Amino acid sequence: MTVNRAHVIVGAGLGGAKAAQTLREQGFDGPLVLIGDERERPYERPPLSKGYLLGKEERAKAYVHPEGWYADHGIDLRLDTTATALDPAAHRLTLGDGSRLDYAALLLTTGASPRRLRVPGAELDGVLYLRRLEDSDRLKAVFRPGAGIVVIGAGWIGLEAAAAARAAGAEVAVLESAELPLLRALGPEAARVFAELHRDHGVDLRLGVEVAEISGGSGTANAVLLTDGTRIEADAVVVGIGVTPDTRLADAAGLAVDNGIVTDEHLRTSAPDVYAAGDVANAHHPLLGRHIRVEHWANALNQPQTAARAMLGQDAVYDRLPYFFTDQYDLGMEYTGYVEPDGYDRVVFRGDPAAREFVAFWLSGDRVLAGMNVNVWDVVEPVQALIRSGATLDPARLADTRVPLESLLPN
Ligand code: NAP
Repeated sequence: MTVNRAHVIVGAGLGGAKAAQTLREQGFDGPLVLIGDERERPYERPPLSKGYLLGKEERAKAYVHPEGWYADHGIDLRLDTTATALDPAAHRLTLGDGSRLDYAALLLTTGASPRRLRVPGAELDGVLYLRRLEDSDRLKAVFRPGAGIVVIGAGWIGLEAAAAARAAGAEVAVLESAELPLLRALGPEAARVFAELHRDHGVDLRLGVEVAEISGGSGTANAVLLTDGTRIEADAVVVGIGVTPDTRLADAAGLAVDNGIVTDEHLRTSAPDVYAAGDVANAHHPLLGRHIRVEHWANALNQPQTAARAMLGQDAVYDRLPYFFTDQYDLGMEYTGYVEPDGYDRVVFRGDPAAREFVAFWLSGDRVLAGMNVNVWDVVEPVQALIRSGATLDPARLADTRVPLESLLPN
């Protein structure tokens, strides 16, 4: 490693901020540059579709650190700045203004960007996405009593936005191409719970439908047309149809990219001294024995901390199980583990799905791959222990709420 070169982080979201913090906490006192293309200093995204969007949390609470924190820690935070090229052999970045930045070690926490809807009218005003703080402000402004909000995509963004719009008193329709919301994430057994939840809260949930066009008057969206000819009036349209990892820099630099930037369990990419973490990283997971790319808050929080340690030469391995949560109306949920859409044999419910108070377990044979607790709390640790144990379990005992989860663990 060249001594006077900086440690550089590209991507000033939660992941970039946590990596910078970890580098300092681990004693790195050399030059440290954090580059982000937004004007806002790093912030967390969950409030954008939950507390802040609902008007329950202050905007200031979303930021990872107070404004002066970066300067106080000798971190050269360069906002509104884009890294345009990476030369891994020269250990050099080129920035949008043409300047060059030589690095000793580089971390890419470039995140992901919303997939754009590609139908006629998709560029009209009033067609909104939710990724950035300013997007959340736009949604807040249109979520008003009596407003007609059409949400396209019943994934995490679509459902959390729908819940916030209903809470604001808007009339909400959710359009999803699959047969159930969250189908790919949860499978049909648990996805049904979310379909019922939204219908019970007055959402016009339309499944298995295709959007043909967004129509507008004076340049502003006023309705969504489906391929079956249905027209749904809208004051605003919210699109949440997934994200794609921001791999442009890595691609152009010739790094291994396959559904994100490919890394090993130390978050090292295929280029020397270049690391990747967060939404953009397709990282080898030692417990799962495969590469996974996780688009959730906990991964953006924790994985870059491991990458920062690895940048300092520590033997750091990222082996946490994926974890995420949602809050929609009166339903709170935590999910941990990892399952491919067709990668499980059955789902065992412990508790009452109809009452929305249960833990669901995804099983391969009699082994637990993942668990989701809905309106049941303080079970993530034992659920993760069951997954990590790899033990074969008696599904009847797993389903029995009188049997403590801890007692199912092998001694
Ligand atoms: P998502 O969770 O991947 O869901 C996108 C949904 O839209 C899927 O159900 C998808 O169906 C559907 N879809 C795709 N194309 C469509 C179309 N043309 N018309 C109608 N439906 C369509 O993505 P997201 O909701 O946009 O969220 C963006 C990212 O933020 C994700 O990475 C998500 O994990 C993250 N996020 C997480 C949380 C949380 O953890 N609580 C909250 C908010 C956001 P198919 O699967 O069949 O394509």
